[in-house]
Amino acid sequence: MSTISHIKEDALIQKLTEGITTFPEVLVGIGDDCAVIEKTENEHTLLKTDTVVENIHFTPQEDPERVGWKAAARVVSDFASMGGKPEALMVTIILPPDTEQDWIQKVYNGLKTVARKFGFSIVGGETSSTAIGSPKIISISGTGTVESHNLTLRSGGKPSDLIYVTGTLGGSIRGKHLDFTPRIKEGLWLARHIKPTAMMDLSDGVAKDLPRLCKSSSCGFEIFKSRIPLSHNCTADQALRDGEDYELLFTIPKASKQELETAWKKYFPDLQLTQIGHLMEKTPEVVAEEASAIHAPPETDPQQMNQLEGGWDHFQKD
Ligand SMILES: [Mg+2]
Repeated sequence: MSTISHIKEDALIQKLTEGITTFPEVLVGIGDDCAVIEKTENEHTLLKTDTVVENIHFTPQEDPERVGWKAAARVVSDFASMGGKPEALMVTIILPPDTEQDWIQKVYNGLKTVARKFGFSIVGGETSSTAIGSPKIISISGTGTVESHNLTLRSGGKPSDLIYVTGTLGGSIRGKHLDFTPRIKEGLWLARHIKPTAMMDLSDGVAKDLPRLCKSSSCGFEIFKSRIPLSHNCTADQALRDGEDYELLFTIPKASKQELETAWKKYFPDLQLTQIGHLMEKTPEVVAEEASAIHAPPETDPQQMNQLEGGWDHFQKD
């Protein structure tokens, strides 16, 4: 019998969601960082749910306060990637009965810190027990808001648009995956002032997330390994594949390059911004869904990648 370890995460989601119908108010359903529901002419509601599981997203040894931070900040990061901000979050915890009260109290302290810092309310949730020996699970669902003219999807990229990432990438397992800062300020600023054609946050690594953005935008891409901004002691391969950086990946028209780079230095002097490549016309390789759409290099950059594979897949084990 075929198990879920025999199918890629994206393919499974596609299979499960076939035939779902949505109301006209649903502006964006499955497939972007958040769902988008039309609220008024000027503002939309963002919906997101996300889960962290012991031994997958955090270890038993890790500081529970940081685990709480991560659980909520992942959701906030998705609101950032739409050009929006969080409004209200609900928290579901599923714990084996031998969980120490102090542990879950500290997780909540972490959640409350994110709420204070990013200005949203925790408005409810659910608790459930599970068998002794089962992993602890924290699942967060939330609403956010986005001004309708700021809404930024994955699907608006055009061939020749430039591809940027914020911050540095790779090695998040050494700590950043528990301490990252959701790029709310930056996402909002970009949406207001630069109008990225497409944007998402980097949860599974450029190697997996960029092909997703490109698939939504019906584009191919070309990126340059030598330009990937590396976190301390990381190789370019790690930067592309490790995941959980929660930086922003976005595209802009070529004509906005100067304006973006000049203004970025002024408003966000402490956060690196790097153009890693550009979108291209869709190619047969991209249509094939695999992330192998990095093409024969111009002589100018010998380190250009000719193949891009990997990144996080939550079900695939081989
Ligand atoms: Mg995301």
